[in-house]
Amino acid sequence: MSDFDVDLFVMGAGSGGVRAARIAAGHGAKVAVAEEYRTGGTCVIRGCVPKKIMVLASRFHDAFDDAAGYGWTLTTKPEFSWTGLIEAKDREISRLSEVYARNLERSGVTQYASRAVLEDAHTVRLSDGKKITAKYILVSTGGHPVAPHIPGAELAISSNEAFDLKELPRRIAIAGGGYIAVEFACMFQRLGSEVTLIHRGEKILRGFDEDLRDELMLALAAEGVTLKMNNTIAKIEEAPTGCRKVTYVSGDDDEFDIVFFATGRMPNTKGLGLERAGVELGAAGEVRVDNNSRTNVENIYAVGDVTDRVNLTPVAIREGHAVADGLFGGKPWAVDHALVATAVFSTPEIGTIGMTEEAAREEMMPIDVYRARFRSLKHTMTRRQERTFMKIVADAKTDKVLGVHILGEDAGEMIQLAAVAVGMGATKADFDRTIAVHPTAAEELVTMRDKVHVPTPGGAI
Ligand code: NDP
Repeated sequence: MSDFDVDLFVMGAGSGGVRAARIAAGHGAKVAVAEEYRTGGTCVIRGCVPKKIMVLASRFHDAFDDAAGYGWTLTTKPEFSWTGLIEAKDREISRLSEVYARNLERSGVTQYASRAVLEDAHTVRLSDGKKITAKYILVSTGGHPVAPHIPGAELAISSNEAFDLKELPRRIAIAGGGYIAVEFACMFQRLGSEVTLIHRGEKILRGFDEDLRDELMLALAAEGVTLKMNNTIAKIEEAPTGCRKVTYVSGDDDEFDIVFFATGRMPNTKGLGLERAGVELGAAGEVRVDNNSRTNVENIYAVGDVTDRVNLTPVAIREGHAVADGLFGGKPWAVDHALVATAVFSTPEIGTIGMTEEAAREEMMPIDVYRARFRSLKHTMTRRQERTFMKIVADAKTDKVLGVHILGEDAGEMIQLAAVAVGMGATKADFDRTIAVHPTAAEELVTMRDKVHVPTPGGAI
């Protein structure tokens, strides 16, 4: 008989928590999970999934337009219903959330629709006062959007609300230059809003390959997104018209129907009793963990955005899986955070894995850089000027591919497969040896010839 009510108590039923709970239960552990909002967490409820649905909706804008190049005539003007999209999206999100809950139930996991707070390292308290003791505790409480502290910040929305706006804004200002800002800017623009993207830096998507950043900015501008770079919002006021008056640090101002802060996210660690249990937090309020997602308290683990490592759903899922295997499956393993492919669902899309050219240069590595910029076959038939861009960064000494960076249709799909090769340590010669699939855009990845050699500064090769 165990001295505890359960073997594992999971705080938060998002991607990481649900995976850990199900795998642990599969290993025979007695598991309980508490979720204060909706089962599925950020990704399913107000993140990746609804975002992708809305991005896909926005891309019909281009598809209707492009069809003309292929002989199609639309006899009536396509009309878009924001309410129709939001209702359809909500139905799908509810269905998915139920699937998550059902899967937990089938796995034998006890679910509590409640917030859970730590009383001590082995005890959690639910909202109704019920206390549950657990041998191990997993903190998988995710994160939340943060807005800058400026006057009128409360008049703006975050991504949480952007999914449920009552109507499509005519004019929307989006502040930030990261994933969320860029994805929503493209989505709203194609659905019919006038979008202004306000970013404090010179370019969007800091940390991504410079060529991708430049190419995407050109594409956004070509699509009609107003780019206000090197600027930030100083204050927001409610105008007599009910609109939001934005004053920039540069002194000028603008009016919008909606102001949306996409200025980053922070871990959800407040009010969870973590201090009471002795769990150490880092500077950004994140739960500090080791390679096995263990905190400084021996029986408490944490996975996903609450640990602020690589804040992506598939990473949280892996981390949750590894914790469950390590604790109850007798096969500990650690997640490799080094080579994680990612996509930005802008239109055009970004897919990227590994080192950027700039990172390689900073590490003083001699590199070979291959670039391809072309108009895809699809767009030779349309009026769209959209270009696909691809880049491979290879180690000049070993020929090993260090990074692959793509901007264009289906970049997210392409990078998933390129990630297998890069993860296996493929060389540029391995890419070249692969016979192309023709005619595709992806074939460019195995036919790139134009090389720019970047030697080690002041060095050989
Ligand atoms: P990011 O951290 O990616 O970007 C935040 C942006 O806001 C940056 O451009 C940053 O500028 C800017 N910023 C931060 N603070 C301020 C401020 N005080 N004033 C003005 N600008 C500011 O956060 P997101 O909110 O876009 O996304 C959060 C995370 O969610 C991502 O990092 C990603 O891990 C995940 N995500 C993943 C997606 C995907 O996989 N497709 C989609 C959406 C989110 P600067 O660059 O100068 O720091």
